[in-house]
Amino acid sequence: MRIAVGGIHIECSTYNPVLNEEKDFRVVRGDALTAAPYFAFLKDYDATFLPTIHARAIAGGPVARSTYERFKGEFLDRLKPLLPLDGLYLAMHGAMYVQGLEDAEGDWIAAARDLVGPDCVLSASYDLHGNVSQRIIDALDMYSTYRTAPHIDVEETMRRAVKMLVESLKTGVRPLLVWAPIPVVLPGERTSTVDEPAKSLYAMLPGIDAMDGVWDASLMVGYVWADEPRATAAAILTGTDRAVLEHQAKRLAQAYWDAREKFVFGSETGSVDECVAKAIASRSHPVVLAESGDNPTGGGVGDRADVLAELLAKKATGVIFAGITDKQATDACYTAGTSAELELVVGASLDTHGSKPVKVRAKVQFLHDTADLADRQAVVVIDGVELVLAAKRRPYHNIADFTRLGIDPHAAKIIVVKSGYLSPELAPIANPSLMALSPGVVDQFVERLDRHRKARPTYPFDKDFAYQPEVFLSARSISR
Ligand SMILES: [Zn+2]
Repeated sequence: MRIAVGGIHIECSTYNPVLNEEKDFRVVRGDALTAAPYFAFLKDYDATFLPTIHARAIAGGPVARSTYERFKGEFLDRLKPLLPLDGLYLAMHGAMYVQGLEDAEGDWIAAARDLVGPDCVLSASYDLHGNVSQRIIDALDMYSTYRTAPHIDVEETMRRAVKMLVESLKTGVRPLLVWAPIPVVLPGERTSTVDEPAKSLYAMLPGIDAMDGVWDASLMVGYVWADEPRATAAAILTGTDRAVLEHQAKRLAQAYWDAREKFVFGSETGSVDECVAKAIASRSHPVVLAESGDNPTGGGVGDRADVLAELLAKKATGVIFAGITDKQATDACYTAGTSAELELVVGASLDTHGSKPVKVRAKVQFLHDTADLADRQAVVVIDGVELVLAAKRRPYHNIADFTRLGIDPHAAKIIVVKSGYLSPELAPIANPSLMALSPGVVDQFVERLDRHRKARPTYPFDKDFAYQPEVFLSARSISR
């Protein structure tokens, strides 16, 4: 059996003004796709996998329209000579926003369906922070999404999507696909599967998978920083028994709805001032303070200096701050050299209306040795703060991100990272963790975000309304 593979994977805050362009994506095409570690699991399945293109970027702002059209064009151009195909597997994120184009995955997936025709079986895997639309469901035959956040089941999810596809082709059985949108959309930080109530809700899924007539049960949290009508949670089921699928989709949707008021942040939260004051007063160390409104892995810009300004104003000491994206300040450190002292203006280099820059006198402590200008990172000392400056948007969520720059995070009194819930490597060293509900394009205090395009009513923006789960079939299921 011949199965084509491709997709595009990015999460875009529609509030982020910084466009993602081709240079921001890691692209694998042709044989490099099937050779990539990300797709290495495909070799375990008894099928011929035919690569197209897969483009992936860290979360951020909208994808530039021209970049999207180029990727989509290349995907379709590579798909066309492979026809006729038995199957197509799409590895997606689900929260892409393209300049001037809502439901961007709908556009991509529907274009794929149009090209491969109705006989080809189409399976997609998603991030649970993606958004879904009827157009997406209509074009697909099967669907699976992550069941953990932080995501530690990426490969498992991709395997589920591919396994269903291979089995359907082997047996000739074509499944039904149903979904029940849930008018709730919450930040990932309130819906981590490590914490209740998400933990128990996601624990329902293996039991549903095991039922006769069910192939896969998926529960979507959705992506709250997309100001689009499709931004909601959803239950999505693939299988063969329509009655069971509909019943279980309703049951999942109802359970999610019933739990809506119980979704709370997994760590202590506060304003920037409150969190900085608490971190300084803490008797245990290291305090890990997450600046959540500017988290690049959630779609934030990563260039804000609000928390830095507060730390300096309160004369905090023993601080490691990783990091602020500021190409100009980073380059100035490389020009000055290690041990040099210089005046820097830090922050607001990408989103010039987002935050106020901070003027500081800094000493260059470390320069990351790299020939790639975009990979430049400098560590500077400003009073009691060791600050990492980076030329490009990047997270510092792994211990190696620090040690590579000659910094030992365990030795700090306060570690500041631009993050939402802490990564699996930082969470265990936090003593304690604090999450600042700081301003930014991925503001966790979502109720204060502008809302122009989201469906109404949607919880938590609207609170006083009733909901009865309703199940919708894919267009292809209706015709079966
Ligand atoms: Zn995610």
